[in-house]
Amino acid sequence: MYSIGKSVLGRDILAVDIGESRCRGLVVGGVHGTEYLTILAALKFAGEYADEPRSLSLTIVPCLNPDGTEIALTRKIYWQANQNGVDINHNFDADWENVKRRERELGISSPSPSRYGGERPESEPETRALVRLCRNVRFERVLALHSQGREIYWDFGKSTPFCCLALAEKMAEVSGYKVAEPEPIATGGGFKDWFIERFHRCGFTVEMGLGKNPLPLSDFEAEYPRVKNLLNIFAGLC
Ligand SMILES: [Zn+2]
Repeated sequence: MYSIGKSVLGRDILAVDIGESRCRGLVVGGVHGTEYLTILAALKFAGEYADEPRSLSLTIVPCLNPDGTEIALTRKIYWQANQNGVDINHNFDADWENVKRRERELGISSPSPSRYGGERPESEPETRALVRLCRNVRFERVLALHSQGREIYWDFGKSTPFCCLALAEKMAEVSGYKVAEPEPIATGGGFKDWFIERFHRCGFTVEMGLGKNPLPLSDFEAEYPRVKNLLNIFAGLC
């Protein structure tokens, strides 16, 4: 494991590289505070993926938001943001006007447990760490694990390559998750949005599990096989 940067409180944001192929995918978990099942899924998959030779290498960042995860876990409150009260998945530089318009509609104008995008794109160290990683490494495709809803988001307007829908459909088939309909207005600021727009390659948001956040730890064992199948498709072919 190595560090791709530090959180607001100075915690290392860790990553692990698996495989030797130059063709590489990225899986990110723990973006939102209450979504810690995604951290477990990313870690478990990292262990299993390492056991077999593959045509696609993977970089796995199990927890992008360690500070927010700690807040959600220890204070047992609904906290999705980072330590600064900025929602990392609204802080990427993609359709920023839409991010701010959506905040106005929701009455959010300052740091908040969720959905506040920050004063400017990439204002947060966690966002910058992931952006830097994607600029330094040529990822063939990326996938961010969130929860919940058992859905797969794949679309970000005109920049989205045509083949991404087919991959989303395959991932849906093996997991029982649904391919989510594109949302023309409610998007922007997310990691997948930024990645698709910046690189014109596939980026996915996968909503793990079904219920109300935070999903209980007891949901993990039953839900993980779905996520594993899906990640195996994501990582299946270069
Ligand atoms: Zn999330």
